[in-house]
Amino acid sequence: MDRNNEYFKAGLLLHGHKCPAMPMGLRAGMAALEALGVERAADGQLIALIEIDSEHCATCYADGVMMATGCTFGKGNIRKLGYGKFVLTLIDNKTGRSVRVATRNEVIKRNQESEFIQFRKNGVPASKIDPALVEPSVDYILAELTDNLFKISPVEEIKITPGRVHDFNTFICSDCGEVAVERYARVKNGKVVCMPCAEKA
Ligand SMILES: [Zn+2]
Ligand SMILES: [Zn+2]
Repeated sequence: MDRNNEYFKAGLLLHGHKCPAMPMGLRAGMAALEALGVERAADGQLIALIEIDSEHCATCYADGVMMATGCTFGKGNIRKLGYGKFVLTLIDNKTGRSVRVATRNEVIKRNQESEFIQFRKNGVPASKIDPALVEPSVDYILAELTDNLFKISPVEEIKITPGRVHDFNTFICSDCGEVAVERYARVKNGKVVCMPCAEKA
């Protein structure tokens, strides 16, 4: 895979800057799809669990995982576990088959030692760093053999607990006049209101 790959290009558009972590998530997502032998999720067919948290290096990983797997914030089929680790578990909802894809330590070390990270450590936003400094790391992540990037667990079967049925019913808040999903309606002084209006003093 190279910089002409359509998922890389779309990922870049979504993500906004060139960095090594978004492609790392892209490759992890693709490796997980391949290990499970499934297609990218058009709906909620797959669930992605990612072990990153917030405000630490390489959280951009999440955007690559979303792009590759189709598990997105909007569909609600991606979850952050908050361990500060660069690991993806992908689960096929239909069969319960699951695979864990862990980024190899050497790959993370390689990124950590790049010139790009030195700029990031000094507080330079990724979009302000000369692309020539990051492109070698990006090209390496895109082109390297999957086995050299990730430790891929054997596929396991896990028990899936069915999710909540999608709620299509809405109401109009009698205070602010905005629409909200019915499940989030609250009663305040005998009026049906939205949650923020219910919490207002
Ligand atoms: Zn990034
Ligand atoms: Zn309201």
